[in-house]
Amino acid sequence: MKNIKDYDLEELKNELKQIGEKPFRAEQIFKWLYQDKVKEFDEMTNLSLQLREKLKENYTMCNYKILKKQKSKDGTIKYLFDVLDGNAIETVLMSYHHGYSLCVSSQIGCKMGCKFCASTGINFIRNLTSGEIVEQILAVEQDENIRISNIVFMGIGEPLDNYDNVVNAIRIINNQKGLSIGARHISISTSGLVPKIYKLAEENIQCTLSISLHASNNEKRSSMMPVNNRYPIEELMQACKDYIKKTNRRISFEYALAKDNNDNLDDAKELIKLLKGMLCHVNLIPINKIENGQFDKSSNENIMKFRDFLNDHGIVATIRRELGSDIDAACGQLRRKNLKQ
Ligand code: SF4
Repeated sequence: MKNIKDYDLEELKNELKQIGEKPFRAEQIFKWLYQDKVKEFDEMTNLSLQLREKLKENYTMCNYKILKKQKSKDGTIKYLFDVLDGNAIETVLMSYHHGYSLCVSSQIGCKMGCKFCASTGINFIRNLTSGEIVEQILAVEQDENIRISNIVFMGIGEPLDNYDNVVNAIRIINNQKGLSIGARHISISTSGLVPKIYKLAEENIQCTLSISLHASNNEKRSSMMPVNNRYPIEELMQACKDYIKKTNRRISFEYALAKDNNDNLDDAKELIKLLKGMLCHVNLIPINKIENGQFDKSSNENIMKFRDFLNDHGIVATIRRELGSDIDAACGQLRRKNLKQ
């Protein structure tokens, strides 16, 4: 059966037309789903009994079950959801002074094979649908009785490898009649799928693009991220420059510091050369050590030196606060552990 949350508002209008209903019903259904956050068609009380029956015959609501929930001392909560076909995905809720931010997954597994990521080694199974992406937000908001204000596509999966469903999910999240989260509060993180970066630049979405860069030369980056063999740094940087020019939006470059690998001042110098003059920000991440992983976390002293060096040379850099380090918060860790049990 089809998932009613897979459709953005315009698509839902068309769906309803096909079952002989007036398009304005789509707006009513959208309101029930994303503003009233009901879990059953029978709760949509301004729809006729007959329409509710029709909806039940044709669509599911895709309400997730929580398989596991871990809460960190710092308030970060990690969920493992049953996506109703025997597979599980992770979603992480982080609490900041400016509100709640949710890190959502976009695929079940990932094909990219980044060497520092706990999702590596878990087979790619399938893309999540738009509704399955959106459901992560609804399920967490309902469970914690909160309103989420920021969405980051930084969980399991390469969002741009599931381009259509991710963009469609963003339209539902962003729609004022949907979840109504401003596009500027939505961030997509990519390992660097160059053709999709060009495509995203053409969409009329004001979301933030984050690039998982992690190294400033091809040799090092390829050793950490095999995707770099397909789309080397020069091509990636060209796509980023084009994205900035088209959207006038600042790009965020993610740089996970691994001890004795990419964390010395020569690496910082190379990074400055690469990013000089670009409208960008560097997010330095103390790398999360994963089981059997080949990288160790850089020392705090090194991380601060690296940041100061970038800032002193005109590149805005900040260190990402470590959240949930006591609860397997690196993407893929919780799922990986549970798959083994
Ligand atoms: S870091 Fe992201 S893109 Fe890379 S393997 Fe992990 S989930 Fe996939």
